[in-house]
Amino acid sequence: MKQIEGTETPLLAVHGLVKTYPASGARLWGSRVVHAVSGVDLEVRRGENVALVGESGSGKTTLARCVLGLTRPTAGSIDFDGRDMSTATRSQRGAFRRRVQPVFQDPFSSLDPRWTVGRSVGEGLDSFRIGTPAERAVRVRELLEQVGLPARYAGLRPTELSGGQRQRVGIAAALALGPELLVADEPVSALDVSVQAQILNLLAVLQRDLGLAILVVAHDLSVVRHISDRIAVMYLGRIVETGSTATVFRDPRHPYTRALLSAIPDPDPARRPDLVPLHGDMPSPLSPPPGCHLHPRCPVAVPTCSSVDPALTDLGAGHRVACHVAAAAAGHPDPTAQPDASATDTSTPRREEERPCPPRA
Ligand code: ADP
Ligand code: MG
Repeated sequence: MKQIEGTETPLLAVHGLVKTYPASGARLWGSRVVHAVSGVDLEVRRGENVALVGESGSGKTTLARCVLGLTRPTAGSIDFDGRDMSTATRSQRGAFRRRVQPVFQDPFSSLDPRWTVGRSVGEGLDSFRIGTPAERAVRVRELLEQVGLPARYAGLRPTELSGGQRQRVGIAAALALGPELLVADEPVSALDVSVQAQILNLLAVLQRDLGLAILVVAHDLSVVRHISDRIAVMYLGRIVETGSTATVFRDPRHPYTRALLSAIPDPDPARRPDLVPLHGDMPSPLSPPPGCHLHPRCPVAVPTCSSVDPALTDLGAGHRVACHVAAAAAGHPDPTAQPDASATDTSTPRREEERPCPPRA
C-alpha cells in the first residue's frame, strides 16, 4: 500500500503554497492581508494517509480547500499525479474533480435535507452521467453497504439519520466517482466521541481496501494517531514538523508538536517531561511574528528565533523540523541562522497578543 519515499511521483505534491486573504475592515487595515498559508510543501503518496494537524486558525482548512480546487492559491503550485493544476486544461480539471473528493466536517450542512440519501450519494454519478439510472441506483446501494449502512437507507432523509450515519453518507458520496484522494477536513470533530472511532476505522478500511490516499485534517493529534501514516504539524500558516506518525509521537522535536502532544492524556505523564504546554494564544495571522512564528510563545526560543525563519531541516528518514534549537541539538544547525544583534529579546512582552483578532472563516 505504501510506497518507499522518492520512488515515484507523489499523487499530490504541494510546493510553496501561499494563500492570503484581504483583511476585513480594509479601511482600518489599509492593504493588510491575512496570512492563512505561508509557503507550504506537502506530499501525499498513493494509498497513503497524511494528517495535517494544528490548532484552530493555523491554515489547515485553507490548505485543504486549495488542494480541492475550491480556493485559488495566491502563490505556489499544486500538482496532482505530476500535473500542475493551475495550467491544466478544462478536461484535465474535470478528471481531477472526479479523482479528488472532499469529506466535510459537518455532514448535516453538506447534505441537502430535502434530498434522499440515495440522491445525495448518487449526485456525482448523475452529474457525470455515469451509467443508466438503474445502474446508478444499484451503485448507490453498493456504496451505502461499503460504508456500513443498509442499502434501504437510500430512501431516507438526512434528518432520519444519526450524526455518524450522516458522515457515512458523506463518505459514500465522496466515493461515488472512484476517487484516488479523499480530503477530509475534521471529519469526526462534529461527532460524539463514541462514534469518532467508528468513522476513523471506516476511513482506514477504505484506505486499505480501495488503495485510497487520504489527507485528513484534525486539530487533535490523538484523532489521527491510529489511522495516519504521516503527520504534518501546522502552526500559523507553516508546517513546523513532519514525519511518520510513529516518529512524531515517539520523538517529537518541535516545541509546538510537543505542546500538542502534552494535551493528550498520558497514563504516565512522568515519562514525558519534554511535553510542555504553550502559554498564550496564537498571534494574529494579520502580522505573524518575524523569524519563527512560534518564538513569542516558545519555551526554548533563543535570540535567533525572533529574526530568522527556520528552514524545515531533515533529521533523517523523512523526519523534518523547522526549529533552530531542535536542528542544532540534532547536529543540523541552519547555516543562515546567525544570531542577530537586533533580534527581539524573547523576554519582551508578547506584542502579537495585543493585536485585534483576525476575521474568522
Ligand atoms: P484552520 O482550518 O486551521 O482553523 P483556516 O484555514 O480556517 O484555519 O484559517 C486560517 C486563517 O485564515 C484564519 O486566521 C482565518 O480567520 C483566515 N481565513 C480563512 N478563510 C478566510 C476568508 N475567506 N477570508 C478571510 N480570512 C480567512
Ligand atoms: Mg479548519
